[in-house]
Amino acid sequence: MRNLNAKTVREAALNKWPEILKHCIPSISVACEKIGKRIACPVHGGTDGFRIFKKNGEGAAKGAGGCNTCGFKGDGFALLMWYRQAFRPSYVFADAVEEVGQYLNIVDRKDERDAARNNQLEAAHIQKLQEQRNKQLKVKDGRIRFFLKRIWRETIPLTHPQAEAARLYLSSRKILNWDMPGYEASLRFHPNLRSYNEEGDFEGEYPAIVALIRDAAGVPVTLHRIFLTVKGEKAPVESAKKMCPFPSDRSVTGGSIHLGRAGEVLHVAEGIETAMAVSMAIGKPVWPLINTGLMETFVPPSGTQAIVIWEDKDLSGGGEKAAKALQARVWAMGMKCARHSPSLSIPSGEKSVDWNDVLIQLGRFGFPQAKRQAA
Ligand SMILES: [Zn+2]
Repeated sequence: MRNLNAKTVREAALNKWPEILKHCIPSISVACEKIGKRIACPVHGGTDGFRIFKKNGEGAAKGAGGCNTCGFKGDGFALLMWYRQAFRPSYVFADAVEEVGQYLNIVDRKDERDAARNNQLEAAHIQKLQEQRNKQLKVKDGRIRFFLKRIWRETIPLTHPQAEAARLYLSSRKILNWDMPGYEASLRFHPNLRSYNEEGDFEGEYPAIVALIRDAAGVPVTLHRIFLTVKGEKAPVESAKKMCPFPSDRSVTGGSIHLGRAGEVLHVAEGIETAMAVSMAIGKPVWPLINTGLMETFVPPSGTQAIVIWEDKDLSGGGEKAAKALQARVWAMGMKCARHSPSLSIPSGEKSVDWNDVLIQLGRFGFPQAKRQAA
C-alpha cells in the first residue's frame, strides 16, 4: 500500500533491520549476519568498504551502515534508498517505506493500526525490561566498587617486607626499580588475592602485583593484576594477568597506569614489566598502557608535548599496529611522537619480544641513545 505511515513502519522495523536489509539486499547478507564485518560494497564493488554499523548495537538496530567510498547512511531507509537508487533513480522514500512495510506484513490500514498497537505494547515492555536491567546493573556496580576498594585497601607498597614475591618476580626479569618515587600510588602488592578464571571458577589465593588503571580523565576505574607464586613465578592459573571488572558507568578507553609523574615528554609501553624495564634503562617514568586495545585509544594527560612509544614486537604485528595507531592520533593532536621497536629479533618458537627481553639480554646498552629519545 502506498503512503503507509512511515513512523509506524519505522517503529516496527526497529531492531529488525539486519534481517530486513538481508531480505531486500541479498548481496549484503554476510554484513547483516555479522554486524561490523566489512564486505564488498553492493553498489561500487571493491573488497571491504561496506559494513553495518555496530555502535553498541544501536547502529544495527536502526539499520545504519554504508561504504567508505559511497558514504554512510544513518538508518535502514536511507541505506535501502541509496542501494535502490543506484539501479532505479525514481525510487523514493515512500517506496522504501512500502518495501519495508511489505516485509513486515504492514500492507493496509488495519495492519498499520495493529502494528501501531503492537509497537506501543512492545515499547512499554521494552521500557519495563530496561528499568529492571538498570536496577540489576546498579546492584552489580555497587558490588564491583566494593570489591575494587577492598582489594586496593588491602595492598601494600612493593617495598614492604611482605612484598618479597613481587620483588623476586621483577628481579628475575632484571627489573629492580620498584622503589621509584610515585610508584606506590599506582603499583602495589597484595599478599593473597583470590583468582577466578573466565568462567568464574575459583583458582586459589596467590600473591599479586596490583596496578591502578585510570581513565582518560585520570579517574581510577579498575585494577589490573599479575598473579604470582610466593617464589616469584607466574601463578599456575588460566591467565596470570587480568583486569578486574569495572562499573558500567565507567570506561577504561583512553586509560593507562600512571606509573610515576609524567613530564612534557611522556614515555609509554604496553605491559607493566616492559614499562618498568624501559624506565630502568632510561631513568624516567614510563606508563604502561596494559594492552594493544588500550594503547590505540590512549589519551595523554594535558601538558604532554611529546610521546615516546616503546612498542612490543609481535609475530602477529599487533604491538606495532597499535603503536602506529597511537602515533597517528598523537600527531593529529599536534604533539610529537617517536616509536622504538625492540632491537632483538623474535626468537624461533616465541610469539613476541619486548623491551624487557632487551634489558635481560643486552642490558642498558640495548636501548637507543638518550638524545634520540626526545624526538
Ligand atoms: Zn561503495
